[in-house]
Amino acid sequence: MTTSNLNAPHFKDADKARQYLEAQVWPHGPVCPHCGVIGEHYELKGKSTRPGVYKCRACRDQFTVTVGTLFERSKIPLNVWLQAVYLLCSSKKGISSHQLHRTLGITYKTAWFMSHRIREAMKDPVFTKMGGGGKIVEADETFWGIKPGHHKKKGGSVHKEKIFSLVERGGHVRSFHVPDITSKTLRPLMLQQIEYDTRLVTDEGSAYRKLQRSDFKSHKTIKHKSGIYVRGQIHTNTIENYFSTLKRGLHGTYQHVGSRHLKRYVGEFDFRYNNRMALGISDTERTDRALQGISCKRLTYRRTDAEMEKTT
Ligand SMILES: [Zn+2]
Repeated sequence: MTTSNLNAPHFKDADKARQYLEAQVWPHGPVCPHCGVIGEHYELKGKSTRPGVYKCRACRDQFTVTVGTLFERSKIPLNVWLQAVYLLCSSKKGISSHQLHRTLGITYKTAWFMSHRIREAMKDPVFTKMGGGGKIVEADETFWGIKPGHHKKKGGSVHKEKIFSLVERGGHVRSFHVPDITSKTLRPLMLQQIEYDTRLVTDEGSAYRKLQRSDFKSHKTIKHKSGIYVRGQIHTNTIENYFSTLKRGLHGTYQHVGSRHLKRYVGEFDFRYNNRMALGISDTERTDRALQGISCKRLTYRRTDAEMEKTT
C-alpha cells in the first residue's frame, strides 16, 4: 500500500493541524507570546472554549499557537494552510496561485495572499555572512522579464530585471533583485554578504573585475568568452544550475512576476535550495522549517500583511 503524504491527519483536520503546528513551533512546550514565559500555562477546557487556548499564569493573558502569526484570524482552516505550505515547499519549481486555487478549492485571491504570506515565512531569520574558512563562493547574475516602463528588445539587458546570486559551494544560496550589474551595486553587496576568508569565483564581467585585491582572500575568474567553463575548482556551474531551476520555475510556473514581487519569488527558490534534498532535508522537514518561520515572523507580520493588501 502506498502512503500519500497528503493523507497525514494534520492535512485533513483543523484540530490535528493545530496540534501539529504546536509541536513545530513549541518543541519545548507552549511559549506565551505576550510575555515570553515558557511552561507557565494551562489549557482552558471550558465547554465554550475551543481547543488549543492556553492561559498564561505569569501575565494572565490567553493565547493560542496562532496568536500574532499569519494564521490568526484567517478564515482558511489551519489544515488547508498546512496543505498550501506543503505544496509550496515540496514543488521544486514552485506552485502558482492558480494551481493552489484549483487544488485547494479556495478563491484565486485567497491563494495569492496565502502564497505571498508563506514566502514571507521563507526568509532567513538570522543574518550570517557566507563563505569564510577558505570556502568557495560563486557569484553570478541572471536576467528575467522586462522592467516596468521598458519594452522588449532584441539585444542587451538594459530592459530586463536583474537577479544577482551568491552560492557557497555545498551550502546556501542568497539572491538579490538588483537595479543593475555594476561594481557600484555589486561590490558593497558582496562585501556585506561574504566573509573575507573566501575563495570567490565569478566570470570576467566588468563588475567583478573592479573588485579589490584586499576584498577577499582570492578571486578567480572563468573566461566564458574564451569558451573556458571549468578549470579544476574554478567554475560557476553551481550557480548556473541554480539559475536553471529558478528560470524554469519563473517561466513555467509563475510567468507573470511583477517587478515589485520578484524578490519574494526568488526568495522562495532560495529557501527550497537551502533546504534541499541533497542536504538530506525531506519535503516534510522543509515544510516544518517554513512553519517555524511563520511563527518567527510574529512581530513583522502585520506590517507586511498590510503592504500586501494594498498591492492588490
Ligand atoms: Zn504570558
